[in-house]
Amino acid sequence: KTIISMENITYEYPDKTLALKNLSLRIDKGKKIALIGNNGAGKSTLFLLLNGILKPTNGDLFFNETKLTYTRTDLKKLRQKVGIVFQQPDSQLFSSSVYEDIKFGPKNLGLSAEEIQLAVNEAVRLTETGDLKEKPPHFLSLGQKKRVAIAGIIAMNPELMILDEPTAGLDPYYAKKIMRILKDIHHENRTILLSTHNVDLAYEWADEIIVLHNGTIMAQGTPVEVFQNK
Ligand code: ADP
Ligand code: ADP
Repeated sequence: KTIISMENITYEYPDKTLALKNLSLRIDKGKKIALIGNNGAGKSTLFLLLNGILKPTNGDLFFNETKLTYTRTDLKKLRQKVGIVFQQPDSQLFSSSVYEDIKFGPKNLGLSAEEIQLAVNEAVRLTETGDLKEKPPHFLSLGQKKRVAIAGIIAMNPELMILDEPTAGLDPYYAKKIMRILKDIHHENRTILLSTHNVDLAYEWADEIIVLHNGTIMAQGTPVEVFQNK
């Protein structure tokens, strides 16, 4: 079953840079997908389109087979179902403590105090951020910030979780730790899409790989299918 799809999407930035060119894509529910591609390939643009931060210049986006209309209510619903962890964690950590930050999402969804508590506890457990709960996020190391940002998204429990370069800037030890978390948090009702330059991690973690180049998809398939054709 397809959770999200794009049909003939083109995205042009105001300065006329053509970031995505007539791109069509299907993402099946429950999959772990790695998006790989050079800098400038269009990965971040694709992610911003998938949760409605950007609106395509041309083409359509479908979530659970329903076409997105870009009304305010539609966008609000989409963003509750599609959570993004940005490459720079600082852009999404703004509370006075890690605990408040992780709580922000579920609180915003209007969950009860008890549900919020459960969601936060689960997110903290999976990301091993328990010892950081009282700390101000801005003083954490990059690896810790990444884990807190991931915890914040887990607590919201979106159907599609998107992570832009979750291991960028981390040494191999912490990169592995993040990938292990991404394995642990995966289940059949949670689809995970991430971008990475780390082909080894993608190969090991992903069910499916999408190769983006110059705003178009060059290949999509299982790791074995995609890398055999290299
Ligand atoms: P990636 O995430 O794969 O590095 P991006 O989606 O950031 O790729 O960029 C795709 C293309 O769009 C690049 O040519 C980039 O320079 C351009 N681009 C990205 N953001 C902007 C912007 N705000 N304004 C103009 N061009 C942009
Ligand atoms: P973070 O992942 O942000 O460093 P942790 O609480 O997991 O946060 O860090 C535990 C400690 O391990 C840190 O004090 C750090 O100095 C140390 N450390 C740093 N790099 C490595 C590494 N490559 N392997 C093992 N331990 C490391």
